Amino acid sequence: METVGRFAPTPSGRMHLGNVFAALLSYLSVKSKQGVWVLRMEDLDTLRTKEEYAALLREDLLWLGLRWDEETQPQSRRSPVYHRYFEKLQDLHLLYPCYCTRSQLHSVNAPHLSDGTYVYAGTCRNLSQQERARQTRLPSYRVMVPNREYAFTDLVQGAYHENLATDCGDFVVRRADGVYVYQLAVTVDDGESGVTEVVRGMDLLSSSPRQMYLQDLFGFQTPQYAHIPMLMAPDGRRLSKRDQDLDMGALRKHLNPEQLIGILAHAAGLTESGNPISAMELSSIFDWNKLKKTDIILQTIADIF
Ligand code: GLU
Repeated sequence: METVGRFAPTPSGRMHLGNVFAALLSYLSVKSKQGVWVLRMEDLDTLRTKEEYAALLREDLLWLGLRWDEETQPQSRRSPVYHRYFEKLQDLHLLYPCYCTRSQLHSVNAPHLSDGTYVYAGTCRNLSQQERARQTRLPSYRVMVPNREYAFTDLVQGAYHENLATDCGDFVVRRADGVYVYQLAVTVDDGESGVTEVVRGMDLLSSSPRQMYLQDLFGFQTPQYAHIPMLMAPDGRRLSKRDQDLDMGALRKHLNPEQLIGILAHAAGLTESGNPISAMELSSIFDWNKLKKTDIILQTIADIF
């Protein structure tokens, strides 16, 4: 079977080193198997995302030598498609409206075991028709989850499992303002694009069981997952879009693409030296077994420049 991988950035700022790392590993894995690499803009949050960032992202990927084979429709334009899958869940009687406010959610629900959010206690699951009719807020919609273990073997993190009922609870698939959420959109998009492997940051590991559950309901295959270590600043913070000193605007002033890829590949354990190397060349020697599994701390900014 042909390998189909994807890079699914959120265009809410200039790409930073962490995004470059995710793009690079996803590209390397796919191209080491002569597969197809798909680019998809995850711009569901139209307040934070901008087309100018998406344009810069494409430009930065090309500069890095990470040429995608196909770009799929951005998520902001796929609401009607997500709606069809929402209706499938409705037909299966798995959805219910939730009227909980943010503060109720935080006071009533226990912390989520794996990502610091909460386990939804099911407050609105059994409201009667009359109770629903009395509500004045617009509801979000939650999907009911089974009391069942979802388990998979991650290419980097190894065995992972989660019981959706006890570790997560019923989760939102459509917000009160009508916007479909990441979990639903990503499952539909990966499924419809025939994605066979998902390479992304470790912070999304605990999302996978929710996506596996939706894949089962929608009739999609579960891809191979690879959740990669996070890049950390010297003080132990995760690199983020706020670290403008490490965004592509700054990096491109100091380094050429091969130098940047050489430094990242070395920090990640993929090569023995930090010598400059192109993405294409690196793909021919790429091996998941060499990748470091824990957070990668970039000792000083001077390590980069
Ligand atoms: N859009 C997400 C991000 O930029 C990635 C989601 C995914 O790869 O599933 O962090």
